Amino acid sequence: MGSSNFAIQLIDEAKEFNPSVRDFFNKCVESRNVGMDYHVISVFGSQSSGKSTLLNALFETQFDTMNAKEKRQQTTKGIWLGHTNDVAVAVDKRERTKDLFVLDVEGSDGAERGEDQDFERKAALFAIAVSEILIVNMWEQQVGLYQGNNMALLKTVFEVNLSLFGPKSDHKVLLLFVIRDHVGVTPLESLQQTLETELNDIWAGLTKPDGCAESSLHDFFDLKFTTLAHKVLQPDVFAENVGTLGTRFQDLENPEHSYFKPKYHHNLPLDGWTLYAGNCWNQIETNKDLDLPTQQILVAKFKTEEIAQQAFVAFSDNYPTEIFKANELEQLVESLHGLKSQCIEEYDTYASRYAKPVYMQTRGGLTNDVETKLKETISKFLLSLTESLVTNFEKDIAARPKNVPFSERAKQVRSEIEKRFQSATNELVERGLVSTLQDEEQLFTSTLEQASAAQSQKELKQILFRLNKLITAGIKEDIIFLLTHPEKDLWDRVIESFESIIAKAVRSFACEDKTFDFQVGLLPEENATVYRQIRSNAWATLHEIINDYLTEDNVVSILRDRFENKFRFDENDSPRLWKHEEEIDTVYRVAKEYATDVLDVLSLAATSNHVEIIPDVPLKPLNELVEDVDLEMEFTDESGIYHQKSFAHILTAPQKEKILKGFKRQINTAVIEAKRSIIRTTTH
Ligand code: GDP
Ligand code: MG
Repeated sequence: MGSSNFAIQLIDEAKEFNPSVRDFFNKCVESRNVGMDYHVISVFGSQSSGKSTLLNALFETQFDTMNAKEKRQQTTKGIWLGHTNDVAVAVDKRERTKDLFVLDVEGSDGAERGEDQDFERKAALFAIAVSEILIVNMWEQQVGLYQGNNMALLKTVFEVNLSLFGPKSDHKVLLLFVIRDHVGVTPLESLQQTLETELNDIWAGLTKPDGCAESSLHDFFDLKFTTLAHKVLQPDVFAENVGTLGTRFQDLENPEHSYFKPKYHHNLPLDGWTLYAGNCWNQIETNKDLDLPTQQILVAKFKTEEIAQQAFVAFSDNYPTEIFKANELEQLVESLHGLKSQCIEEYDTYASRYAKPVYMQTRGGLTNDVETKLKETISKFLLSLTESLVTNFEKDIAARPKNVPFSERAKQVRSEIEKRFQSATNELVERGLVSTLQDEEQLFTSTLEQASAAQSQKELKQILFRLNKLITAGIKEDIIFLLTHPEKDLWDRVIESFESIIAKAVRSFACEDKTFDFQVGLLPEENATVYRQIRSNAWATLHEIINDYLTEDNVVSILRDRFENKFRFDENDSPRLWKHEEEIDTVYRVAKEYATDVLDVLSLAATSNHVEIIPDVPLKPLNELVEDVDLEMEFTDESGIYHQKSFAHILTAPQKEKILKGFKRQINTAVIEAKRSIIRTTTH
């Protein structure tokens, strides 16, 4: 026991903090993970009041004591640090304790002033700042004598302490008054009373900073008192007293009995304590404001960040390099969840002992870093999931019953895709891998929207393709027939037929109740635009068919057919048998007029009440028929508008002249033939 019962000088005469204190700790605790399972005790009191002797007896430390023979020899000034794992609990009986670190403050004898007093004050303040228990060692005969410089020193310490911590402190220190050379005539209770009165007087007499007027000594300190017999005169009683005192430095068996209380502990792991103590001394020595909580927080920050970084490095080292495929959600979740909890657990194991707010804050930072990394992987995964869901979009719509309108099928497939994506993101969030996937969800939504719009376009394009084909076929069949047999009201019939072809075609694709809803999920105004495009296409087709059909030659033969119908057949549709030339001439004139009557009708598309036909929309250029549907299409194409305006004008005047010439030539032949037939009949 007492494995490292040597001592080092923590702070030397030159007021330097020992830089090798870490090594000392390492030697003391070897490779044990002490964490916060340790205690710090300090002792102060006037010189040669038997402090070192007491500590050595209690803790088997090896602090220098003044040899009785080297009278009043000054032991080396400074603060000494000793370590022990055992404590005296009875005469010649020691027991194991937690790691105890003991600070022995070696001051001056109080006779000197100035420089030494400065050191003593600083040392006392330091002891209060870093210890759980401060033993105030004093002779019995000093009790009640304010001049017994302990009390003067305490006054200074209280004052500085108060100005540092302000009106309230969340950390308390136990002041343990050990009254030496207790003769026994005055009982402890009465000594305690005297000391308490004295302490309260000191407290009352302090110059208190603003806001501290109401604060009490007990807000900062707990007080305990004990006595020891004269070591030289009553060595046995002394040893017994030391043993009794020792039992109270054990905190395992009987926490009630122990001087140690959790509230005295600084809650710093041992290596943090070193840093903290060094900073404290530095602050005290350079007379900077000593802000203990800040010190603790500094240490906690330093240590928790170090631990967090280590945990993160381990996390990164184990991080998977593979990319998870769309169907590997479970693997992804398991792998990332394992890595994350491992990392946070590692951090918690070592960092949770530090100041809670700092521990939590650093934990938040680490969690953030981890989640950022996880999110990269998750984002990639969600991208490939989106891709695979969207790729199947078209197939899934096609797989649904065809009697359901496209827009309805698309909506169902879309909501299924959304559900599947949502369940993946829910799982990722619920398993705590990321706190939010808003960006990813947004990206998914817009990708799905695009895909959905593309599907609608595709469907719409197909509809338009088939619709245009239907319209074209209808126009070819019905309109050419009308053109071939023109009457005065030709264009009334053409338009009537044209509209009915369109209406019929549109009806076969658009929803019954809403005239133009093509059921691909368009807005009403988009459907209206599509309808205008259909009309534009249809008009262009009509225009093309009319102009293709009404060539000069075709018109000549239309006129000739019409002429011949009248010329060759009578009212009863029986072939005429010519009797004399006059008859031929008469019928010829009538038939010719009847035929030429429709040339004007064919030349200009106008209703029977002479209104030129102008399409309600510009004509779509023929080469763009059935190109991509442009829902924002503006009907401003120049040639489209030109064709709209000039739609009615089919044959020009020179064309008409040419046609008439050709027509006359042909009917003349017919007349000559007719006349020859009379000659032939008469000569027979
Ligand atoms: P420190 O300067 O306070 O550390 O005192 P030391 O432990 O070095 O002891 C100073 C002197 O007091 C030594 O000669 C000790 O033998 C003596 N001494 C130690 N304990 C007692 C005690 O309980 N009573 C008295 N009267 N003398 C003691
Ligand atoms: Mg000493």
